[in-house]
Amino acid sequence: MNRGRNYKGIEIFRVVAAFLVVAIHTSPLASYSDTADFIFTRVIARVAVPFFFMVTGYFVLSKGTDIRRFLKKTAMIYAASAALYLPINVYAGHLQGWGMLDLVQQVLFEGTFYHLWYLPAAILGAWLTAFLMRKCSRGTCFAVVGVLYILGLLGDSYWGLISGVPVVSSVYNAIFAVMGYTRNGLFFAPMFMLLGASLKDVKPRSAAADALGLALSVALMLAEALLARAQGWQRHDSMYVMLPVVMYFLFALLARYKGTVRLPLGNFSLLVYIIHPAVIIVVRGAARVLGLWDIFVENSLGHYIAVCLCSAAASAVLLWIWSFIKPQKVSDTSRAWAEVDRAALIHNAQTLENFMPESTHLMAVLKADAYGHGAVRSALELNRIGVENFAVACCAEGVELRRAGVKGLILILGYTDVKEWRALSRYKLTQCATDASYARELSQAAKRPVLVHVKVDTGMHRLGEAWDHVDEIAACYSLPHLRVTGMFTHLCVSDSLESSDVDFSKQQLERFFSLAEELKRRGIEPGALHTQSSYGITNYPDGRCAYGRAGVALYGVKSDEHDGVREWPDLRPALSLKARIGLVREVPAGDTVGYGREFTASRPSKLAVLPIGYGDGVFRCAMHGGAEAIVRGVRCPIVARICMDQLCLDVTDVPGVTRGDIATFIGSDGNESITCEEFAAKCGTITNEVLSRMGKRLPKVWR
Ligand SMILES: *Cc1c(COP(=O)(O)O)cnc(C)c1O
Repeated sequence: MNRGRNYKGIEIFRVVAAFLVVAIHTSPLASYSDTADFIFTRVIARVAVPFFFMVTGYFVLSKGTDIRRFLKKTAMIYAASAALYLPINVYAGHLQGWGMLDLVQQVLFEGTFYHLWYLPAAILGAWLTAFLMRKCSRGTCFAVVGVLYILGLLGDSYWGLISGVPVVSSVYNAIFAVMGYTRNGLFFAPMFMLLGASLKDVKPRSAAADALGLALSVALMLAEALLARAQGWQRHDSMYVMLPVVMYFLFALLARYKGTVRLPLGNFSLLVYIIHPAVIIVVRGAARVLGLWDIFVENSLGHYIAVCLCSAAASAVLLWIWSFIKPQKVSDTSRAWAEVDRAALIHNAQTLENFMPESTHLMAVLKADAYGHGAVRSALELNRIGVENFAVACCAEGVELRRAGVKGLILILGYTDVKEWRALSRYKLTQCATDASYARELSQAAKRPVLVHVKVDTGMHRLGEAWDHVDEIAACYSLPHLRVTGMFTHLCVSDSLESSDVDFSKQQLERFFSLAEELKRRGIEPGALHTQSSYGITNYPDGRCAYGRAGVALYGVKSDEHDGVREWPDLRPALSLKARIGLVREVPAGDTVGYGREFTASRPSKLAVLPIGYGDGVFRCAMHGGAEAIVRGVRCPIVARICMDQLCLDVTDVPGVTRGDIATFIGSDGNESITCEEFAAKCGTITNEVLSRMGKRLPKVWR
């Protein structure tokens, strides 16, 4: 729950909301005035639970797809809380005579103890809302949750309007038999979760407008609630027509109040929320023993204050204990890291999509952990902006993306053992048929249909069935367990503008497209055709291609600075490679440094030792190529042999250099920048290799 730590307003209101929930369960004003109590606990305090649902929408659902972590965590909290209250349930005799239906009702909707209904509602609501957001447009989502909310209202504050209508009321009674109330994960939570998720994309208006909206909507909600109460409509009092409006303005106001919060207020409010019913029992017991019943139980306000203080104290103690036993996370930027510029990646995807002919769409190549950028995160970000075609190198990479919730076509460019057909089929991965015999084997092995694109060798002689084996290729299209949806080839010199290379590429394309024509003549629809990787996209644009398989260009770099390109769109490098200086030392002239004593200081030198090495992606050969890093805007040479986990920079010419300073190996700092192309050239290789060999232990930090 750390996601919202820099939303001060939201963080602080979490605590307020927790104490409002306590108010709902203790009715602090009941000793003074029924109406005041109704207004406070049945109307005002009703913002608390929707607020928590909106927090989930805002921080979890707005991200897009993967909500499994949230669901798992909430389910665990629910299980632990249910276990905590089990003895109380048994003691109170709540479990006696439970049938199957009661069990379903309690576990899925009512939460096995009165306040725990929130947890199953959060699970069901988040699942349902995420499902809707994935499948439908935002408008349709709101229509669906709006209808659900109205159905819920009629079983809650507006029950009186329909309770007398014969068929309708019996439908509702059937609903109540299963769910008890309509304020649950089906009718209640989705509205607020969707509102929360949608607010993330709304540009803030003026605070005054939001405050006015809040004041007006609260007034209207009060009027509505008092009317419903006066008319005796209310079967329950959680849902009002105005509540989503109130929540919208309230949350918009809270979300604008930014600032870092150091205290774990989210966990604190969660604990207060979970334990306060137990605290109520303890307060009653203690008051009886101490003879303070009148002050702390009979008097509603005294009772409320006692429960709040004791809940807060108990929660603080639990958090203090937790601080000793909780797992500690190491900061991603304390050693060495790769920084990924999300905006650059998105810009590149959009630029490439616009650069290609209208009939050609981007297929984002995410092999080797998206060239070191992080495949899952990249795919989810691209999914969010509508990219729906991806390519990976192997089956496991495809499975990882699917399990993270990535939607659309995922093409496996390389070989997969036919024994893995179950994974291919289960995760709807599209396998490359590396040649015709492989296609036959895969079809034989598979018991269920597997999606396939047939690879054609038009001259590279790596993967693919030979382009002139038309019969063999045609046969792939009628194999019983394959669903062939496309055909592709790979160009091997598309990065060169030499005329012999251009002729070769044109011949490859000619072979490929004439094969496609021949298949059509034979009555076979070859499916989606594609031929281009990054340089194919820039040098051989072709409207016949359904996809452009962009790898290196998507990440904003060329393979080599000197590659031949007819036109290079405005692409921005997405990855920087950085490390923090761990030690600065003086080395006298004439002393040697590092393994093999390969470096000798020619002058009294200042060296920075950095916790990054070839195990992180700074190749051992980088030193000999003259690779540098930027510290405080100054280029510094790498000196001495690069080790697996450390290397040295000569920082003699950097004024004020100190431990903790950041060294940039790829990227910019001040007026200096080192491109990935430069770094790769100094390592004697291409950027593709540099990026795809970023170390496994190197954290990817998105910003
Ligand atoms: C890696 C790969 C690509 C992407 O290549 P880039 O040059 O990085 O754009 C495209 N197609 C195939 C078959 C590949 O293996």
